[in-house]
Amino acid sequence: MTSTQARHTRRAVLQAAVDASARCAAADPDQWFREDNEPQMTWQARRAEAIRVCTGCPARAACEELALRNGDGNSRVDDMVRGGLSGTELAAVRTAQAERLAAAVDADRDTEGRLLDDLSVELRAQAGLNPDGRRNGGRLCQDENRTEQNLRIRALAASIRQIRTARRARAGWGVAA
Ligand code: SF4
Repeated sequence: MTSTQARHTRRAVLQAAVDASARCAAADPDQWFREDNEPQMTWQARRAEAIRVCTGCPARAACEELALRNGDGNSRVDDMVRGGLSGTELAAVRTAQAERLAAAVDADRDTEGRLLDDLSVELRAQAGLNPDGRRNGGRLCQDENRTEQNLRIRALAASIRQIRTARRARAGWGVAA
C-alpha cells in the first residue's frame, strides 16, 4: 500500500494491514518510545534504529496514516516513532494535512465507511477460505462449496465497488475510498 492509497483507505483496512505485516510486531514495542528521563544521545540512537526498521516495513504507509488519524506525536516532545516518523514529524504532518485528516476521521466514523470496512473484512475472509475443507451434511461437497464461495465473493466485490464508486463521485477522489 502506498501513502496515497493509505490516505483513501478506511481505518479497519489500515489496521488490518498493520496487524498482518508490522515489522515491529515481534520486537519490544518500548523500542519505539523514549524512556522517562532517557538522555537525548541514547534516544537519538534508538530513534534512528526504530526509523530504520520502519523504513523497511511493508505496513509503513498504513501505520503512518493511522498514527496521523490517531493524533499521535507532539510538536514539543521528541519521545516516539511511528510509521517511520518521529513524534515531532508526525505533529508537523498533522498540522500540514489537518483538513484532509479531519475528513478522513469523519469518514471512518460514518455508517457507509463501517459497512465498507465490514464488507472488505468479509471479502478477505471468504477469499482465504478453503472450500475443499468444508463439509455439508457429513460429506464433502467441494463443487457446491466452491460455487457458493465464488458467488459470495462476487457479491461482496460488487457491493464494495458500488459503495466506492459512489464515494469517489461524492468526494472527487481519484482512487479507492
Ligand atoms: S512502520 Fe514502524 S511502527 Fe509502524 S508497523 Fe511498521 S515497524 Fe511498526
